[in-house]
Amino acid sequence: MERPTPSTGMDMGSEIQRELNPLENARLQFEEAAVRLKLDQSFIQIIKEPRRATIVKLPVQMDDGSFRVFTGYRVQHSIIRGPAKGGIRYHPDVTLEEVMALAAWMTWKCAVVGIPFGGGKGGVACDPGKMSKGELERLTRRYTADMIDVIGPESDVPAPDVNTNEQTMAWIMDTYSMHARHTVTSVVTGKPLALGGSLGRREATGRGILFVVREAAKRIGLDLKGAKVVVQGFGNVGSVAAELLAKDGALLVAASDVQGGIMNPNGLDVPALLGHAAKHRTVVGFPGSTPVDGKKILEIPCDILIPAALENQITNANAGRISARIIAEGANGPTTPQADKILNKAGVLVIPDILANSGGVTVSYFEWVQDRQGLFWREDEVNARLEQIMVSSFHDVERMADEHKVSFRIAAFMLAIKRVVDAIQLRGVYA
Ligand code: NAD
Repeated sequence: MERPTPSTGMDMGSEIQRELNPLENARLQFEEAAVRLKLDQSFIQIIKEPRRATIVKLPVQMDDGSFRVFTGYRVQHSIIRGPAKGGIRYHPDVTLEEVMALAAWMTWKCAVVGIPFGGGKGGVACDPGKMSKGELERLTRRYTADMIDVIGPESDVPAPDVNTNEQTMAWIMDTYSMHARHTVTSVVTGKPLALGGSLGRREATGRGILFVVREAAKRIGLDLKGAKVVVQGFGNVGSVAAELLAKDGALLVAASDVQGGIMNPNGLDVPALLGHAAKHRTVVGFPGSTPVDGKKILEIPCDILIPAALENQITNANAGRISARIIAEGANGPTTPQADKILNKAGVLVIPDILANSGGVTVSYFEWVQDRQGLFWREDEVNARLEQIMVSSFHDVERMADEHKVSFRIAAFMLAIKRVVDAIQLRGVYA
């Protein structure tokens, strides 16, 4: 997936760079919530830094016979509430710093929805677009073999992230099982259905967005029937959210992907758009729509905005021009802390990523449970359990926000940090 470079080359460069630094943003969000919770320094020390960071050098034979050495990471930010949980990303820009920030976010995400996991993340600095399937398979198997003592169903459970998918998970599961001498499906989630994946996993993140948006709409008195929706990033998360919200009567007025955006103030025909996007691999050129320029999509008048593409899309520079009443963060980290302040002042209800997109990790948890019990659930059971968790988590965050008069983001962090600290105290790790 293409990502913004945090550098502008202008005088404002370093300030903007700071605004777009994920580790810095994770730290700011953590600290604001920790201060509100009046957290003891001892706890802050325990949960501020990752518990373990592993760096591996991975020699891989390329198709031309040469060897290349890739750098791989796995960070376990917290294992207090259960095994570390989090995806593995393949991207040229992967750094230890980025993986550390993403691992911390996973700790908070799992705690917000109350699933029994800590937080982890992995990554390999590589350019998968320039690698063959065979090279990717060899890289994945080498990564798994080198991490064999780090990952495991009881210790750290990876999943797909940017540029990794069901196939990657199948290779990890197979390599891990070869070492264990028996099949271990529960070592990763996001697997193909044929290898112990869960029904409903593909749609889970978009479906989770639907459930929290419904609750947010009730809170602000917005009728979803006829509500205008804009989706940035019509991929897995964005397209499923758009499809389900349209079934609730909402109007998708604009959508975009990496190739550009389209709009129609009277509403786009979502089933037809899904067909167009599947056929042409882009929303661009959809009949009956007018083209919109990339980032401008965020500024189109609407009731519900769903940034579901990349981090750092809503910043100091454009937050003031956003007119949505609800923002549901499908992507991780799409809004910078500076932009957050502007949106809060304007009264926009931002459903933060650690709550809004947690449907994915929640159904990953269901997959892990099903693998461990060897009994698989019907799709309607998966969806019903997901709904119950998303709705109750929304109201847990809402109560915290109302009680402390803070934004939903700070409330979600407070709730998550409190749950992690409670676990530390109960386990006695503090001693
Ligand atoms: P995806 O690859 O299926 O879709 C991403 C979409 O964003 C694509 O349509 C792509 O063209 C578009 N995009 C990329 N760059 C863009 C740009 N500059 N402007 C507009 N659109 C752009 O990925 P996904 O699984 O839907 O994930 C989307 C986001 O949600 C990511 O940030 C991911 O980390 C986050 N997320 C995903 C899940 C999940 O379960 N898939 C769970 C939690 C969070």
